[in-house]
Amino acid sequence: MQLFKPLETDKGEDKSACKTTEKICCLIIGSGPAGYTAAIYAARANLRPVLYTGLQQGGQLTITTDVENFPGYPEGVSGPAMMEDLRKQAEKFGTEIRFGIATSADFSGKPLKVTFDGTTEITAEVIIIATGATAKFLGIPAEKRYAGMGVSACATCDGFFYRGKDVAVVGGGDTACEEASYLANLCSKVYMIVRRDVLRASKPMQHRVMTAPNIEILWKCQLDDLFGTGEVEGAVVVREKGTSEEEKFNIKIDGLFLAVGHSPNSDIFKPWIETSETGYIITEPGSTRTRVPGVFAAGDVMDYVYRQAVTAASSGCKAAIDAERYLVEML
Ligand code: NDP
Repeated sequence: MQLFKPLETDKGEDKSACKTTEKICCLIIGSGPAGYTAAIYAARANLRPVLYTGLQQGGQLTITTDVENFPGYPEGVSGPAMMEDLRKQAEKFGTEIRFGIATSADFSGKPLKVTFDGTTEITAEVIIIATGATAKFLGIPAEKRYAGMGVSACATCDGFFYRGKDVAVVGGGDTACEEASYLANLCSKVYMIVRRDVLRASKPMQHRVMTAPNIEILWKCQLDDLFGTGEVEGAVVVREKGTSEEEKFNIKIDGLFLAVGHSPNSDIFKPWIETSETGYIITEPGSTRTRVPGVFAAGDVMDYVYRQAVTAASSGCKAAIDAERYLVEML
């Protein structure tokens, strides 16, 4: 059944702004589990979605190892393989997938507008924001000084370079534990620098790092600085910072991996939609609707509580259904 009258795709040149303007029905921004799931549902509902992938095609799961908790994969599945399957499924139902980065948005009126790579303006009836979140850094000068010279935020991308060497992971969440476990299979020794005396990670992940013979957890510790000529040769760690027990010591490491959480990728939308203090998009309770009619948000950009692949996929599904219902109401 044809629910919506096909919109004529209108590719016109806006000569004054040197921009190409294109009119579509449903725009999805982001290619993680939320974006692709929204695309599968939107395409099956005949919304003819166009999905822009963003820089990291496939999202955060493309830089993870095995995903063991996504329903339907009893043996686990590699993150990149799962995202490739989701992409194929979205394409199979007619989603048009394009590479491009959203650089600005204008939700001041209808039609809703988003510009990609500064040059392509897309106007859409409905927009699903599924731009995810990006790994955070600590904000200390040493991170910049040694960027690409021993400091990384992705063990699966860069761990290979540290085979047989000593490394440290900062953080105590699931990401940190996953990174530490991965690195423990490659490196001689892995330190985990954990600021509290507990791990935030799930119990199975805690068990994994606590039982690995070559992982040492440095409790109540923070990274103070890095040193080395050209490349990282060691770290200065401070234990019990700010207390009378404060103590500084050095560890010899060749690489430092940061795993201290994520920030939602919502900056360009902030002038138009409501976000929390930490930048997460706020949606109506029980819905993916933002305060701008026709704009919906799904996945890690709006979920600071669960942040799982399966919950992101679920909210992508809800966003597509909400978008479809919105269009029906508008008919
Ligand atoms: P989290 O926010 O869960 O954990 C961040 C960790 O970094 C915490 O231990 C936190 O310490 C620490 N931290 C934050 N800021 C600093 C700082 N400035 N200095 C030192 N330490 C700091 O982020 P994750 O990326 O680990 O996980 C995000 C979400 O993704 C979670 O819901 C997690 O469960 C999920 N996830 C699931 C995976 C899986 O199921 N396979 C794999 C990876 C992530 P503190 O605890 O003191 O706040």
